[in-house]
Amino acid sequence: HMHNTIQELRGNIRVYVRTRPFLPGDKQNDESPVDVSPDGESLTILDRRSGSPIDFKFDKVFPPSAGQELVFEEVSDFVQSALDGYHVCLFSYGQTGSGKTHTMQGCGNGPMRGIIPRAVEKILDQARSLNQHKWNFTVSASFLEIYNEDLKDLLISMKSSKGSSSSEKLSIKRNREGRSYVDGLAQIPIDVNDPLAGMQQLDALMGVAARSRSVASTKMNSQSSRSHSVFMLHLNGFNEESGAIVNGALNLCDLAGSERLDRSGAGADAVRLRETQSINKSLSCLGDVFNALATGASHVPYRNSKLTYLLQDCLSGDGKALMFVNLSPTTASCGESVCSLRFAQRVN
Ligand code: ADP
Ligand code: MG
Repeated sequence: HMHNTIQELRGNIRVYVRTRPFLPGDKQNDESPVDVSPDGESLTILDRRSGSPIDFKFDKVFPPSAGQELVFEEVSDFVQSALDGYHVCLFSYGQTGSGKTHTMQGCGNGPMRGIIPRAVEKILDQARSLNQHKWNFTVSASFLEIYNEDLKDLLISMKSSKGSSSSEKLSIKRNREGRSYVDGLAQIPIDVNDPLAGMQQLDALMGVAARSRSVASTKMNSQSSRSHSVFMLHLNGFNEESGAIVNGALNLCDLAGSERLDRSGAGADAVRLRETQSINKSLSCLGDVFNALATGASHVPYRNSKLTYLLQDCLSGDGKALMFVNLSPTTASCGESVCSLRFAQRVN
């Protein structure tokens, strides 16, 4: 089945669209321009500018009524393939306020929790049940942020070894197997055999990451919507009977807001302008990589941004990638929604 590498790669990128429901803060009596088809794979958006409908087709399209549990069910197998040694990445793409963080992280520990806690829970369950087949798994987590093309470790304060300061910039390196890794990034162990302890460790590190993001955002006068965050789960399995090993990874990436920002620089200070330029750059690089893979281009420009270089393993070879396009249902967001859908259309 490896006769066509390009087909393999292409088949490895899926696109799901999720439109959030109307919220109390949205304009009242608004009628959504987004109409999800009952087939669950296509949607029509009434383009406000041209006044005509545009049709799109993707791997899956969720209606606004789709809750967290349903959405997770549709990515669960994908997430679990990290235990088979795949390098898996899920992205959430869309304008600020469209539901990216809700999809990835969600709220609390109840039914509103998102993909990160559900994925960790599922993987711990599966890893434990593989014990019956003599598999021993170790699981650890990292959480980083990419802001202005710099990487920042959100869990640095949890690192046991001294010698690195929080201001230290991280760099992406390649190991002997040609895999990307971030030099010096904290890896927090998650207990596989005690599910309760494992989930508590996750809660603790999510809290640390949230605090280190909010401290940074006041300092840089910037919101988390201006940076990408990548939650990583490292999975290492060893089979006591056969001696087999697997090294998989799950990356859950909440991208910076995709809204078109004022390129003229009018009214923007230098900090804001630099943020805008690096967001535009890294999101367009991501689009270029997806497009190169989808069209079978001979050169895939992974190295043009930190994000694509970091996630290269997921975007090639034995990698698997899935992108959520998050949409706001409002009429005012129609222009941005069309842009997001067009971006995703380049992928498949
Ligand atoms: P983003 O991360 O794209 O900026 P958020 O995930 O923060 O957007 O979502 C914006 C607001 O909408 C938040 O208050 C969030 O709780 C809410 N929200 C987003 N998606 C949904 C959804 N599917 N159901 C209910 N509320 C949602
Ligand atoms: Mg967000």
